[in-house]
Amino acid sequence: MSAASGVLLRASAAGETVRAMAAVTTGVVEEARQRHGTYPTATAALGRTLTAGLLLGATMKDEEGLSIELVGDGPLRRVMVTTTGDGRVRGYVSRPDTHLPSKNGKLDVAGAIGDGLLCVMRTQPWNKEPYRSVMKLVSGEIAEDITHYLLTSEQMPSATALGVFVNADGTVGAAGGYLVQILNGAADELVGLIERNVAALPHVTTLIRRGDGPHEILAAVLAGLEVRVIADEPVVFACTCTRERVMGALLLLGRDEIEDMIRKEGQAEVRCEFCAEQYLVGRDELAMLTTETEGSA
Ligand SMILES: [Zn+2]
Repeated sequence: MSAASGVLLRASAAGETVRAMAAVTTGVVEEARQRHGTYPTATAALGRTLTAGLLLGATMKDEEGLSIELVGDGPLRRVMVTTTGDGRVRGYVSRPDTHLPSKNGKLDVAGAIGDGLLCVMRTQPWNKEPYRSVMKLVSGEIAEDITHYLLTSEQMPSATALGVFVNADGTVGAAGGYLVQILNGAADELVGLIERNVAALPHVTTLIRRGDGPHEILAAVLAGLEVRVIADEPVVFACTCTRERVMGALLLLGRDEIEDMIRKEGQAEVRCEFCAEQYLVGRDELAMLTTETEGSA
């Protein structure tokens, strides 16, 4: 795992009636691009969703898990992101080689996703069943869809911005976003103030490209309010896959299947869908697995 490849700031304002998060995730999204070999439009879709995962994850309690899934009829098919809420996020898209002509000078993320559904799932160790919300995509640009999710599913008015700037050579030049939540009891004037601040701001990647960090972004979004910083945390692209889990998954295939692999390929190649890590399991290790499945297959 790499060192911190991004940073997330949590803050509150106006006597705790406003909760705000901002993140610069350029390194996180660049790592995802390198691992999955995404083309620019796919990079933007995955990067926005990874950033959304980190921002929403920062609103969760310890030990909660979150997944954000977008499924559409566009060429990208599917975006999947999961986070454990401790600044670690991972994700993938079904078709990493998706790239569309730009629309109004911007990467056409909505066109890549198409019409479809947003599914947000929260797992909480104290609840047996995960909390699952499924809704129609309202724009496919992801930020608007997250705002819609928060309003309809969690009755939480919010302002969300997500952005990924892809360089001419395909690498990630800037990525990040912010999420401002208005809690119960906030004054109407406060909502108006934040709306005016947000409307006056340039695109979030413009801020990041000129060198603004999460502190500067939140200061601009919450201009006119006293901001209280809660935490300033590193964020990384990090997967939960391990060699042991891969071996466990192979074991589930059963003895016949494993012996078949030994005969035909002499080894097993397993690729983690989330992080694209390749695990090579050799003949000896496979043979060992067959002894573990003895009598069961
Ligand atoms: Zn993995």
